[in-house]
Amino acid sequence: MSLIEKLQHNLQMIVGDIEVACARSGRNAADVKLVAVTKYATWADVQELSRLYQIFGENRPQQLAERQLLLPDVQWHLIGQLQRNKVRLALQHAALIHSVDSLKLLERIAEVGADLHQRPRVLLQLNLSGESSKSGFTFDEIKSIWSDVLKLSDQVRIDGLMTMAAESENPEDARPCFRTLRECRDELASRPETAAAGLTLQELSMGMSGDFIQAVEEGATLIRIGSRVFA
Ligand SMILES: *Cc1c(COP(=O)(O)O)cnc(C)c1O
Repeated sequence: MSLIEKLQHNLQMIVGDIEVACARSGRNAADVKLVAVTKYATWADVQELSRLYQIFGENRPQQLAERQLLLPDVQWHLIGQLQRNKVRLALQHAALIHSVDSLKLLERIAEVGADLHQRPRVLLQLNLSGESSKSGFTFDEIKSIWSDVLKLSDQVRIDGLMTMAAESENPEDARPCFRTLRECRDELASRPETAAAGLTLQELSMGMSGDFIQAVEEGATLIRIGSRVFA
């Protein structure tokens, strides 16, 4: 099998799994988008994949920027931690930032976005697994700063929430984490002040190679898959 045939096969398997998970949970497969995570992929693999698919995720702003310049027709998403001194670089090259993990970072994005005459699209990252190795807001934190978040919504388009489940052998272990993300979103979206700010929080970025089926069943709209695409 050539490289492109392998990538096509892997994409088809993933799409098939998404369709089955959607059918099982009464969802429309068109509401689930794959973000092909290219952080470990070689440049040859990335180039070849771009002939088949055009939504890619990178976890480092520098590599995202370099690759975006070479493949500008791909929609690039930043999925990894963002330092405040890299915000300008990220906004110049990323269509969506999945990983906003502090109010200070959101404020910086608003400020740099205004400077670039952009209204950047972002997701707020929640840490629901309780692991200190993962960044993100707890649900209590996000609730307590929600009014401050909404004040920035004129400058930043807050499209939804993102989370990473704890690693586990059993993908079912991730399900409660995904369900909780959806419930957090539903709670925040149902607040009158959220609707008044024009936010629907429609995006839920959750699920990776090992647990995306559970994520789709729990309402994921963006799934971030690396190893299964390139395996
Ligand atoms: C690497 C990464 C992924 C993809 O992980 P795979 O297990 O290779 O699918 C998804 N999300 C984030 C934030 C990542 O850093």
